[in-house]
Amino acid sequence: AAITMLHRRDGARFPPDMTLSIQAKESTELPEMHQMMRQTCRDYADRELGPIAGKLDKEHLFPAQQVRELGAMGVMAIEVPEALGGAGMDYLAYSLAVEEISRGCGSTGCVVSVNNSLYIGPILKFGTQKQKEQWITPFTTGEKVGCFALSEPGNGSDAGAASTLARQEGEEWVLNGTKAWITNSWDASATVIFATTDKSLKHKGISAFLVPMPHPGLSLGKKEDKLGIRATSTANLILEDCRIPLGNMLGSRGSGFKIAMQTLDSGRIGIASQALGIAQAALDCAADYAHKRTAFGAPIGKLQAVQFKLADMAVAVESARLLTWKAAMLKDAKKPFTKEAAMAKLAASEAATFCGHQSIQVLGGMGYVTDMPAERHYRDARITEIYEGTSEIQRLVIAGQLLKEYAS
Ligand SMILES: Cc1cc2nc3c(=O)[nH]c(=O)nc-3n(C[C@H](O)[C@H](O)[C@H](O)COP(=O)(O)OP(=O)(O)OC[C@H]3O[C@@H](n4cnc5c(N)ncnc54)[C@H](O)[C@@H]3O)c2cc1C
Repeated sequence: AAITMLHRRDGARFPPDMTLSIQAKESTELPEMHQMMRQTCRDYADRELGPIAGKLDKEHLFPAQQVRELGAMGVMAIEVPEALGGAGMDYLAYSLAVEEISRGCGSTGCVVSVNNSLYIGPILKFGTQKQKEQWITPFTTGEKVGCFALSEPGNGSDAGAASTLARQEGEEWVLNGTKAWITNSWDASATVIFATTDKSLKHKGISAFLVPMPHPGLSLGKKEDKLGIRATSTANLILEDCRIPLGNMLGSRGSGFKIAMQTLDSGRIGIASQALGIAQAALDCAADYAHKRTAFGAPIGKLQAVQFKLADMAVAVESARLLTWKAAMLKDAKKPFTKEAAMAKLAASEAATFCGHQSIQVLGGMGYVTDMPAERHYRDARITEIYEGTSEIQRLVIAGQLLKEYAS
């Protein structure tokens, strides 16, 4: 597959004629184009995100300027074709970008991930050309971000039990209900919303709709006060006779559950990548401290007890990274990747919480205070085991796929 260009902030472009073969991707050495994406995002994270991530977290500040800068780099719409305003790259590039951005700031990584995979992803896959132009292009630059509203107060894991209603009235859909936990909600300019047109059909009654924000009939609940990713906004979306044109349905009537599940398959690669970035940041912090801190007359990195922690962290990160790259490559190769995406998300999120925990231990008292980033990594890591399917749900998905393979 030919790779198109990644736009840089200064307007310069990376070489356009690079060809990427699946064989090259399967080696652990990344092709040049991907290395460039990784390095560009790593440099940006080191320069622009790392130094302010603590302040964003403490003051619950949405990183609006940074999101615009990432938009100018092509990072807010990595998989979107250039004709629609995106970077025209693949999912492996997306995974690398989200990891590096999250290494600098877990919250910013979450915003990038939601815009790319949860908001743009389903429109790119299921939208008409007109919908793509209207609902994707303005969301490629970082000026606007989108959100994805599937969960409800009464159902998260059991997403097929949606009770938000969509009723047809003349040329309009009228939406009523409450969606819960919606990331980016306070900062978003549009949302993909899932609602049922017929509850008796259960998950087969669910459809997806595109709603601009703000919009009459749509209001926001209070911002949730969260353990981590505190620079992202999370709130209820409340729909009270929220009217949208009939043409705002995404995909066909009744296909909403399928759209949501396929979106989450891809989204899980993004969350795995976010988790990897947080895990790597926790390891970086611990390894650096192990060099600098002395105890009993020598750097603590000389102590085998500390070395073992660093080794276990490195193994967890590297093995999760390979699973994540594998899932992304399968998606890029248009092969089934549901099981691998769930494996990647499970392994990377558990690696992130493990590394967050161990990093604090290596830092001792300094791990427990906000002067050092270890405590933020520990808090940011935790959500990756919950959203876009809890770890229990990932295990169900993996086992379900596995048993299907053994049965065939
Ligand atoms: C910060 C944050 C941001 C979020 N962002 C979004 C967003 O942008 N859009 C959106 O739609 N949603 C979002 N969510 C919602 C998130 O996806 C759900 O919280 C998650 O899917 C779990 O659903 P729940 O909270 O209802 O837990 P429940 O489904 O009630 O689960 C509670 C517990 O039961 C377990 N459990 C449930 N069913 C099973 C089962 N069948 N087998 C084994 N164990 C099971 C779960 O694993 C969990 O441990 C967000 C949540 C948070 C906290």
